[in-house]
Amino acid sequence: MSETELVLRSTRVVTPQGTRAASVVVKDGRIAAVLPHDAEAPAGARTRDFGDDVLLPGLVDTHVHVNDPGRTEWEGFWTATRAAAAGGITTLVDMPLNSLPPTTTTAHLDTKREVARSKAHIDVGFWGGAIPGNVKDLRPLHDAGVFGFKCFLSPSGVDEFPEVDQEQLAAALGEIAGFDGLLIVHAEDPGHLDAAPEPHGAKYADFLASRPRASENDAIAGLIALARRLDARVHVLHLSSSDALPLIAAAKREGVKITVESCPHFLTLTAEEIPDGATEFKCCPPIREAANQDALWEGLADGTIDCIVSDHSPSTADLKTADFGAAWGGISSLQLGLPAIWTEARKRGHTLDDVVRWMATAPAALVGLGRKGAIEPGRDADFAVLAPEETFTVDPQALQHRNKITAYAGKTLHGVVRSTWLRGRQITDGATLTEPTGELLERPHRG
Ligand SMILES: [Zn+2]
Repeated sequence: MSETELVLRSTRVVTPQGTRAASVVVKDGRIAAVLPHDAEAPAGARTRDFGDDVLLPGLVDTHVHVNDPGRTEWEGFWTATRAAAAGGITTLVDMPLNSLPPTTTTAHLDTKREVARSKAHIDVGFWGGAIPGNVKDLRPLHDAGVFGFKCFLSPSGVDEFPEVDQEQLAAALGEIAGFDGLLIVHAEDPGHLDAAPEPHGAKYADFLASRPRASENDAIAGLIALARRLDARVHVLHLSSSDALPLIAAAKREGVKITVESCPHFLTLTAEEIPDGATEFKCCPPIREAANQDALWEGLADGTIDCIVSDHSPSTADLKTADFGAAWGGISSLQLGLPAIWTEARKRGHTLDDVVRWMATAPAALVGLGRKGAIEPGRDADFAVLAPEETFTVDPQALQHRNKITAYAGKTLHGVVRSTWLRGRQITDGATLTEPTGELLERPHRG
C-alpha cells in the first residue's frame, strides 16, 4: 500500500520534543518518520504543505456523552463524531450513561458497538459503568475491551444509572483493582448536596450554593483514602473545586494512583458572567468563581490536573428550561473545546505544546492508547491543522452538534481548525466531512 505514503509539512509541528518545522511521513495510516522541514519526499509520495498553520496530533476526548442508542434526540454517534472531527478531535471515549441501554453489561456494550459502527467519523472507544449490583459484570466488560468504569457517588440524573454508596464503591474498586482496571468517578458527596439549599428558580447564585465545594473536596478525600487502601487506580472526573488541589497533589506525591481531569467550561467560563436563567451553563459540579478558575489553571501548570476533556453532555432545548433546579445539567462543547482552551491558555502564557499535552497526550495515556495523542513515529497518523492566530465568533447554528445550544454562543475564540486527519486520511477540510471511517477501539492489553 505504498500509494498511501504521504508527507505533511508545516513550519510548526507540535511534537513531544517541542514545536518545530518538520515534515511528517505517513505510511499505511501511521507516522513513519518526523524529518526536517526541507527533507526530500520519498519518490511517489503525495505532499501537503500547511505553511505556517500548526500541525497537532488529533485530540483525544475521553469524556463524551453520545447518548446513542436511546436518547439520540440529544446527540448520537453520527453528529457527535462529526462535531468532534470539526473540532480537531480524532478519538473519543463514550460515557456509559444517558444512552439506553447504559454500558453496564457486555450485552449492552455489544448493542452500543453495533449502533456506533456505521456512524463513527472518528475512532470511538467505550467506558463501562459501575452501578449497584453489577460487580459481576465488571470483569467481563474489562475483557470485552472497555477502557475502565465510571461510577457516581451522588445521583446521576438518570434513573437507569444509580449512584453507588461507600460500600458498593469499595466492592467495585476492589474488583477493578483485581484486574488492574481504572475507576473514573463523578466525585460529589451526596451528604453535602442533601444538606445544601435546594436549587430552584433562575438565579445562578442559588444553583452554585446548592453544589458546594465541600461536596467535591470530601468525596475526593474519601476516594484517595480508598485508592490508597486498595492500591487501586482512580481518576477524578470534571474537577471544579480548586480547594481539592492540595489533597490531590499530596496524594500524587505519596504515590497514590490518582489522575484528574478538568473541562473547558471550568477553565474558560465563570460564575460571575452567567446570566440568570441561562441554564446552558448548568452542569454538575458547577462552574465556579473566577478565583477558583485561576487556581485550576495553576493546577494544570504544576501537573496536579492531568487532562482537559469536554464532558460534552447535550440535551434537547426543552430540557434547558430557565429554572436551574429543573433544567438538564450538561454543557455542549465537543466542537469548541480546542479553541476555547487555546483562547484562555494563550492569555495565561501557555503554549500549544501545553494544550496538546492536556488535550491529546495525557488523555491518550489515561486510557492506555499508546498509538494516539502525539506526533512521533509508530503512532496513528491522526492530526488537526490549526490556525492559532485566527479568530471566529461562535454561531451555534454552524455547529455539528445535534442540538445547537451552547454556553459559548457569541464568544470570539482564537484557533480555527482547518482540517482533521484520521490514520492518514483527511476527514474534514473545515467545511465538509467525508463518509465515516472511524474504528471502534478496545483497551489495549497492558504490560
Ligand atoms: Zn460527564
